[in-house]
Amino acid sequence: MSSMEEYRAAFDERVFDVLRPAAHTVPALGTRLAEAGLQPDDLVDVAALDRLPVQSKDDLIDLQAKDPPFGGYLAPGTKIRRIFQSPGPLYEPEPIVDDHWRGATALEAAGFGSSDIVLNCFGYHLSPAGVMFEEGARVLGCTVIPAGVGNFDLAVRAARDLAATAYIGLPSYLKALLEKAEEQDGPPLRFERAIVTAEPLPPSLRNWLEERVPTVRQLYGTAESGMLGFECEAVSGLHVPDDALVEVCNLDDGSPRLDGGEGQVVVTVFSAHYPVVRFGTGDLSAFASGECSCGRPTPRLVGWLGRSGEAVKVRGMFLHPRQVTAVMSGIPSVSAYRFLIDRVDHKDVLRCEVVPAAEGVDHHHLVTEVHDTIRSGLRFDVEVQVVRALEAGAAPVTDLRTWD
Ligand SMILES: [Zn+2]
Repeated sequence: MSSMEEYRAAFDERVFDVLRPAAHTVPALGTRLAEAGLQPDDLVDVAALDRLPVQSKDDLIDLQAKDPPFGGYLAPGTKIRRIFQSPGPLYEPEPIVDDHWRGATALEAAGFGSSDIVLNCFGYHLSPAGVMFEEGARVLGCTVIPAGVGNFDLAVRAARDLAATAYIGLPSYLKALLEKAEEQDGPPLRFERAIVTAEPLPPSLRNWLEERVPTVRQLYGTAESGMLGFECEAVSGLHVPDDALVEVCNLDDGSPRLDGGEGQVVVTVFSAHYPVVRFGTGDLSAFASGECSCGRPTPRLVGWLGRSGEAVKVRGMFLHPRQVTAVMSGIPSVSAYRFLIDRVDHKDVLRCEVVPAAEGVDHHHLVTEVHDTIRSGLRFDVEVQVVRALEAGAAPVTDLRTWD
């Protein structure tokens, strides 16, 4: 058996033991099976599971809107510790389970342990990233500084004063912190290890970071399904976890690809409380060939190869064209607009060009109005520029970034 077949076969039991009973009690899962012509008791192995069509994030957003708050996916009687809102909006429940988002495995592979003081630079507000990592770090006994995003100068100060040994966050933010500390008087930051995620890590940035931080490892995950891949010491792809089924599936029919070809990353999380089943992340990847020299048995994703859907990631957060349209249509003083995403000095820059609806509008006032509406509606800080006209039919979101 190939390692891919072994990996998949290891989940047969969990399909039978966890998802089959869940399909009897979780209303949305039962409905989904019925729509695919399946009965709950048909869920006997991974092959049976693969008969279910892939569910997209947009499907889930629609389902939640029709049947709030969780679209019928929460098992009756489940106690929830937290509820997050990620862009869409999409609500994610966190059942009362230790390390529900399964981050500890990835942190441990990067050497995180009980002697670490971790500067966690993911947001703790609404979106789950901050807490996802906090929970993983807690399981390993790390001390966490909940820095979140923003408060940049204070985060530099805290990392220095408290002698933080580890970092979690965007790679671009890590670079900015290190640069800031180097500019200032006083000792430099001495992170021994870092987990970076939510944006690409081009070789030039990786080299820059590794000159200052001995261990830099990438992690891959999503708000809906938690940790889905991590780099080991061999740094040759992202090992998928052994407690959630990660598949790479054909874009047309959703069937799993076992040949190493490119496709959409599709995940199944075996939670009896909130089963995430054949969820399409919208990310493109492929499985690397061969075994890893580290000896971990799970296959490796080659990394992030792009997006299959419309949403684009900016500064680690998704920007959804549908949500953009909804927010921008609420500004009557704007007649046309487009969003441009670019990359300057390893940082994403988001710009919004707007055409005023009437002549003689006060530009300064319009810029402030658009900026504030976007910030409250999309949670993005954006540079607003008033322009005379835009090409007819311009896409609402254009991604100009290139990755070296
Ligand atoms: Zn490995």
